[in-house]
Amino acid sequence: MHLKSLSLVNYRNYDLLEVHPSMSINVFYGFNAQGKTNLLESIYYLATTGSHRSNKDLELLKWDNPYFQIKGLVESHQRDYSLDITYQRDGKKIAKVAGLKKDRLPEYIGSLSVVLFSPEDLAIVKGGPKERRKFLDLQIAQISPNYAHQLIQYQKILSQRNNLLKTSWDLRKESEQLEVWDTQLINIGSKILLKRFEVLKKLLPLAKSTHNRISAGKENLEIKYISSCPARPDFSISEIENSYRTKLLSVRKDEIGRGTTLIGPHRDDLTFYINNIDAKLYGSQGQQRSTALSLKLAELELMYVETGEYPVLLLDDVLSELDNMRRHYLLTSVRRKVQTFVTTTNLEFMDKEILSEAKIFRVDEGKIIEQ
Ligand code: ATP
Ligand code: MG
Repeated sequence: MHLKSLSLVNYRNYDLLEVHPSMSINVFYGFNAQGKTNLLESIYYLATTGSHRSNKDLELLKWDNPYFQIKGLVESHQRDYSLDITYQRDGKKIAKVAGLKKDRLPEYIGSLSVVLFSPEDLAIVKGGPKERRKFLDLQIAQISPNYAHQLIQYQKILSQRNNLLKTSWDLRKESEQLEVWDTQLINIGSKILLKRFEVLKKLLPLAKSTHNRISAGKENLEIKYISSCPARPDFSISEIENSYRTKLLSVRKDEIGRGTTLIGPHRDDLTFYINNIDAKLYGSQGQQRSTALSLKLAELELMYVETGEYPVLLLDDVLSELDNMRRHYLLTSVRRKVQTFVTTTNLEFMDKEILSEAKIFRVDEGKIIEQ
């Protein structure tokens, strides 16, 4: 998949912008606060209808303007089509594919696939369980459209069940009602777990081989799913359900005492091991960063396997944080294969050979000049 052109109106610090990127590597360089991340963010927004760093669309609107617009021409499976998102100050958002308005998100999503890698992704390894669940869930949602809907359903059931737990003081009286919620929770929660296991099984070998190459064969990456249920990746759906139910019943008293649901995919986590050592607790900063990078590159490969096309890769400010070897591996592994948008403050972070075949743009106060 490629983005053949991008145009912005009133987006962040851009008044009016039109870019015609190359199908291979595109480098955007400039000083701090010139608009490099804003540009990548706009591509991410065009793909997902949201920003990766703000959930308030209003913040993306260039000061005092009535609307912003992001347009792109996409090429996918030998077909070209336009994407167009307009956001108005009053909160109205219109998304179009090939000129046709899409009222529901699932009809729009998938028109442009992107993988973004930025320094904040270190949180997948260093941050809390929520970050890791988010990483996995986003991954699954990209290749399995039904999954996002299941997650929303699960959240709804969870919050209803939590409400009941908070008000439960008479265990016998409430237990009948709780059982109704239990059944629903287990039903949808088990489907979520099964999907997570399925995708993780595909992702793991890709992440392992990437990590092995990034580290020049020195590091072996393992990923383990920590299930509160407890369920294992080799479980069938009925085995997951049974184990889920048993565990849920065993913590009933505790749940009522604490007023919250203690078992289910919303409490699960992943552990990353490098050469059998927990990367979150004992990994060096560089190893943690490489783990996050391996996961992102595995995501790219997984999407290729699932859709037959590479997504567009957005690399925001990550070159300066990698050593020469890892940087070289990253860029050579995507060149001529994946359309890539790289931002950097310094062109010296790039190999001469790669620079010679890349399209280079200078970013300066919301203006972009092709070099
Ligand atoms: P760095 O190298 O530090 O990461 P950058 O080039 O990635 O810098 P961006 O984050 O893309 O910088 O752009 C930051 C600039 O955009 C800031 O100067 C900020 O004031 C401006 N900016 C952010 N939001 C808006 C907005 N809604 N309207 C106008 N300007 C904005
Ligand atoms: Mg930036």
